[in-house]
Amino acid sequence: MKSRADVVIIGGGVNGCSLAYNLVKKGLDDVVVVEKNYLSSGATGACGAGIRQQWSTRENASLAIQSVKIFEQLSRELNQDIEFRQGGYLIAVHDEKEMKQAEKNVSMQRSLGLKVDILKPEEITDIVPILDVHGMKAIGATFCPTDGHANPFRTTFAYADAARNLGAEINTHTMGVNLKASKKTIQGVITDKGTIRTNIVVNAAGIDSKTIAEMVQVKLPLTPFRKEIMATERLQPLFEAMVISFRDGIYFSQQKEGQIVGGIPIPEEKGGYKTMPTFSFLQHMSQTLTRYAPLLKHVNLLRHWTGFYDVTPDARPILGEVKEIKGFIQCNGFSGHGFMISPMVSRLLTNLIVEGETSDVLESLALKRFKGKNIEKELSVVG
Ligand SMILES: Cc1cc2nc3c(=O)[nH]c(=O)nc-3n(C[C@H](O)[C@H](O)[C@H](O)COP(=O)(O)OP(=O)(O)OC[C@H]3O[C@@H](n4cnc5c(N)ncnc54)[C@H](O)[C@@H]3O)c2cc1C
Repeated sequence: MKSRADVVIIGGGVNGCSLAYNLVKKGLDDVVVVEKNYLSSGATGACGAGIRQQWSTRENASLAIQSVKIFEQLSRELNQDIEFRQGGYLIAVHDEKEMKQAEKNVSMQRSLGLKVDILKPEEITDIVPILDVHGMKAIGATFCPTDGHANPFRTTFAYADAARNLGAEINTHTMGVNLKASKKTIQGVITDKGTIRTNIVVNAAGIDSKTIAEMVQVKLPLTPFRKEIMATERLQPLFEAMVISFRDGIYFSQQKEGQIVGGIPIPEEKGGYKTMPTFSFLQHMSQTLTRYAPLLKHVNLLRHWTGFYDVTPDARPILGEVKEIKGFIQCNGFSGHGFMISPMVSRLLTNLIVEGETSDVLESLALKRFKGKNIEKELSVVG
């Protein structure tokens, strides 16, 4: 392992690996990633990997729109198939209040150039034929055909391989145990395999980012939300879009291989670090899923697992350098949507690190926003 680096990234999820790739691509020689387990062992490997541009806040929508443009050519760029496909996202709207918000969202999204439609109830089954519009209690939906999905493991490994090929050093089973700082400036990372001197550390440690920041007395407002997600047996191709409801909290899509993969908030508890999946999730998920799509009543569930969202008070990520410690850069707080925006987040952070160039999006997502009073909350999230 190198003992000196231009940048050390803590965390080998999709964000750490995509950032490593973009940094070496931009010409940095010594980029080191330390990952305490294996690549994608955190939220990335547990995620639904949906890619949606339909957000209520401008920053999330524009990060996702720009990321989709990158996803569209990423397999070619990284020379590996990340299984990106665009079947769209259909977001159910259940009442007039939700419809008002949907219209506001769509208008903002269209102002960013996104093609997105508001569907009447009878148009919903044109997109996803297996839905029971009455059962799901929808008065309409929004639909964006260019939303989609990619394989989170393939994406992370493709970024990591491309980063290594360009000279990055990626150390798995290597834990960042402390940070060194002096005169409010980062000096290095102490790992369980030795110390790496550096003036730039990126905190991309998912739910552990809060602990990493505490090593230099920086407080991050991150809360872990426990999530469960399941996969069914393989079925014939039935539909292409991801279906989602903010009110019911359900989301599901059919994978390329035929399984339905989806999740819903756990009824009784969502806090804490317990990794054991619950039976009540399975009951709640299957009841809601078959209310939406009765055809799935006789389908077998094969597997279900737990993962964690790193949630901020406004459900938007924390990005960029903190003003308390020079060279300490945040890339966390993704609040359940950090896979889909990783391509653009890593480009923006690369511009910041290599060129010192900031942007409106980075400025509005800096940690310091939580000191202000008027924080705009992202509303288009499942609980
Ligand atoms: C059930 C579920 C469904 C989701 N669905 C979607 C979705 O459909 N679309 C979407 O965009 N997002 C989704 N997400 C969110 C998405 O998975 C995350 O936002 C994203 O993967 C975060 O990536 P990351 O690289 O920032 O963090 P992570 O993938 O969590 O990576 C952080 C890494 O840091 C490592 N680490 C921690 N501490 C240390 C240390 N001290 N030293 C070294 N390494 C350390 C961890 O082992 C981990 O591998 C979902 C999440 C879950 C749990």
